[in-house]
Amino acid sequence: MSIKTGIMGGTFDPIHYGHLLAAEECRRRLDIDRIVFVPAGSPPHKTERRVTPAEDRYAMTLLATAGVPEFSVSRMEIERKRPTHTVDTLREFIARGTPPGDLFFITGLDALLSIETWVDYMLLPTLCTLVTATRPGYDVQGLDSLPERIRDNLRLVEIPEFAISSTEIRRRAGDGRGVRFLVPRLVEAYIESAGLYRNVEASNMEVSRQ
Ligand code: ATP
Ligand code: MG
Repeated sequence: MSIKTGIMGGTFDPIHYGHLLAAEECRRRLDIDRIVFVPAGSPPHKTERRVTPAEDRYAMTLLATAGVPEFSVSRMEIERKRPTHTVDTLREFIARGTPPGDLFFITGLDALLSIETWVDYMLLPTLCTLVTATRPGYDVQGLDSLPERIRDNLRLVEIPEFAISSTEIRRRAGDGRGVRFLVPRLVEAYIESAGLYRNVEASNMEVSRQ
């Protein structure tokens, strides 16, 4: 019996309800059995700001998904010491036994719209089905200008629009506005006890959104 696997990549700095909702909605809509969250190790698109240490981002992702039987977290990209690319991660899942037909790579619309900047992006349709969730502020019409090969492979999933981002959460944590109900309770507690994002202003420039 085949097990459909969805991969949710991201920086998760920190993970928030927008990520969890997007993953769950795509899972239900496409009958995906399990979602693996894959926190990026050294994200190629985010060199402009200081990213929180991978172990903290991994810990928060674990806390956010604990107790959700369909969700798990992989250390694959964290342990790959060089910059990580989606194409490598998909190949690794395939090498470990998931056939491309059962593999789904899930992104928000903002990330998918920048796919032409990803390494070897034209190979992605041979490795998985691309899935993209709607995201406030990004227009689905933007998909029309992507290469046909990408569009033909893509599944668009409309989700309840949750206008939050990690950038905004870092800002709120940094200036004391609080992040309650934007992130799971255990993530909120972790941010607090590890003292994350306290001096966020200097490093919190919003950068390209993958
Ligand atoms: P940052 O502001 O630091 O870029 P982010 O909120 O965009 O953070 P990422 O870790 O960059 O989070 O995103 C991981 C994936 O989750 C991306 O595919 C992104 O499009 C998607 N995503 C993030 N937030 C949402 C949201 N509110 N709705 C739908 N998709 C989202
Ligand atoms: Mg982003």
